[in-house]
Amino acid sequence: MSWKIVIATGNAHKFEELQELLKLPGIEWLSLKDFGDLPDVIEDGDTFEANAQKKAIEYAKATGEWVIADDSGIEIDALEGAPGIYSARFAGKHGDDAANNLLVLEKLQGLPPEQRGAQYVCVLTLASPEGVCVDVRAHWRGQIATALQGEGGFGYDPLFYLPELDQTVGELPAKTKQHLSHRAQAAAKMLEILKKGDSHLF
Ligand code: IMP
Repeated sequence: MSWKIVIATGNAHKFEELQELLKLPGIEWLSLKDFGDLPDVIEDGDTFEANAQKKAIEYAKATGEWVIADDSGIEIDALEGAPGIYSARFAGKHGDDAANNLLVLEKLQGLPPEQRGAQYVCVLTLASPEGVCVDVRAHWRGQIATALQGEGGFGYDPLFYLPELDQTVGELPAKTKQHLSHRAQAAAKMLEILKKGDSHLF
């Protein structure tokens, strides 16, 4: 019998990416699109964990299935961890990547490389239909570049510079990002939990 798990995203790209990263024999992956109308879950927590847990638990209760939900963002050292959970709407409008990147450049103007440290954060939460949950967190460290570089990825990728590769994530091949990213690292941790099976959470 297979273990059914819903990936709590309506975003087809994210669904494919997480399903690929969490590949394990015996698991059947479902998306929110496999269910009828589901209530929207408002991400109003004040940590990545609170948001991922809220989504996972509410969708697990609504679907009656196991659910994995995520929350991610970028934390910039010089901004004391901002924009953090507000990454998608740092400049005001949700999902305005260009405005968000410009605001970051403005706020870090004139800072030397050693003060431009940042990290992507990803939290994944697995919740049972009864609302028992466990989460994992991963960080991907880099620096904020002084100008946008590269067309790849999304969000802050053209600004997120990896000194060890001398490239921004916007310049990385998609496959390389998928291998190194905060989501990939969190998925690797979640995979270890999934390998133990569904009974160990109770
Ligand atoms: P969410 O977890 O999909 O809500 O992502 C929140 C926001 O964090 C996105 O809108 C981006 O601004 C930022 N973010 C999260 N992951 C990445 C990434 O891999 N690259 C660039 N930006 C990211």
